[in-house]
Amino acid sequence: MARELPEATMKCVICKHGDLKPGITSVLFEQDGCIIVIKGVPADICDNCGEAYVPDSVARNIIEQVNIAANQGILVDVRNYSPELTAICS
Ligand SMILES: [Zn+2]
Repeated sequence: MARELPEATMKCVICKHGDLKPGITSVLFEQDGCIIVIKGVPADICDNCGEAYVPDSVARNIIEQVNIAANQGILVDVRNYSPELTAICS
């Protein structure tokens, strides 16, 4: 699981050595038996241990997408991250 962005620091809190660099990661969410893998998620990636930090706004968008998928009865899905989806569906 990706962790939340640490406040006011760009140092990795896991290994305490790496610097965070903008990158792309994949995240897996599970809710109510619904498993969603989202690829192409913008995140800050530790250049030492590879830990991914997903910004709050992006995490909220992903949770929204998982909620929508769970409501649709989807059990497993792999999709690309879309920052516009929340606006389209609301
Ligand atoms: Zn690290």
